[in-house]
Amino acid sequence: MVEAEEMSQRSMDKMAEMTIQLYERLAPKGKPTAREWTVLASFCLLQKIEENWTPVKILSMGTGNRCLSESQLNKRGDIIHDSHAEIIARRSLIRLLYDELRKEGSKAIFEKKDDKYNLKDIYRLGMYISHTPCGDASIFEGPSVEVTLEETEEPEKKKRRVSTDDSTQETTQKRMRGDEPQNWRETGLVRRKPGRGEFTTSMSCSDKIASWSVLGVQGAILSTVMSPLYLSYLVVGDYYHREALDRAINLRVRVEGLPEGYSRRHIRLGHPVVVFQKGKSAATTDAVSSGYAISYMDGGISEVTVAQSGRKMGLTKKNLDSPKHAPSLSKMKLGLMARQAFGCKGETYIEMKRGGVDYRRAKEVLLSSSEFREWNRLPSEHSDFQIKPI
Ligand SMILES: [Zn+2]
Repeated sequence: MVEAEEMSQRSMDKMAEMTIQLYERLAPKGKPTAREWTVLASFCLLQKIEENWTPVKILSMGTGNRCLSESQLNKRGDIIHDSHAEIIARRSLIRLLYDELRKEGSKAIFEKKDDKYNLKDIYRLGMYISHTPCGDASIFEGPSVEVTLEETEEPEKKKRRVSTDDSTQETTQKRMRGDEPQNWRETGLVRRKPGRGEFTTSMSCSDKIASWSVLGVQGAILSTVMSPLYLSYLVVGDYYHREALDRAINLRVRVEGLPEGYSRRHIRLGHPVVVFQKGKSAATTDAVSSGYAISYMDGGISEVTVAQSGRKMGLTKKNLDSPKHAPSLSKMKLGLMARQAFGCKGETYIEMKRGGVDYRRAKEVLLSSSEFREWNRLPSEHSDFQIKPI
């Protein structure tokens, strides 16, 4: 196991400040109204300055707090299923990495070693989240326990049903220990994100971040050309509970027998003094979470999506299902970008992912460990769509 060096309080505050300042500079489109709140997350590049790992650039950013239910998904890869800020920021980072790979020399943050791109030794990757991640990190005893995200959107307690057209049919969702009401306060479990009236197919942000400590944040497709890109620091704002966060992100991850190049990383945790004023803790009690997600990547490209549909904001009815108007962070568009950026092979998205052989092996090791065995795997047909020019 590799552990990052300590980070100063000043650096933690700076990571939060830089993210919030960047958020404030964005146009109002998609930002919460006076009666709304949201979650803000970013990935940040750090460099050692006077013996301190110091944030130097925000690479990507995301806002949002919604996730589509199973009945809202399609198998075309043209909508965003999971619009939690952490996941939007991570997809924006992946999109940015496609561009970064083309850079050379001092402008590049990666360098090639043994045929794969690696983050240069002078850099580290950090993450800021304005609110404790949903799932295991948000389960703790204390004054904050009543206001965690898990509590705000309880799933139906009884049989889950979903309406399709005029008929009603039972969903085929797998029930997990973490979904059962009697286990809602049990710690250490993997669990799915709650949706509106039914569970989603997406794992909680706590679970996904924990998986990055083994797999890296780059995903299967980029792993074909890139060594795992590990997170060194995680700085969390509202409802920060160090023990719960450490358990959710670090301590429950136990893996052995990872393929070469992969290892478990202990992520350094911290809490900034600065508060995100559009977050839940600063909102009025009757405020609701925003229905939009904003994505941003270094260079100034941002996009707003409607989290409840996973589509771009402001589309006309005619353009709703047009591939051309799919969000930039949809799997379909990211697959196209991967092909353009480094010639990623594969006709379909799932074929592209299969190129990451060691990544898949590492994921199998993680998901066969007792703590992650109940991870909900999205059926492969959801990734079995053609990646073709539009
Ligand atoms: Zn989340």
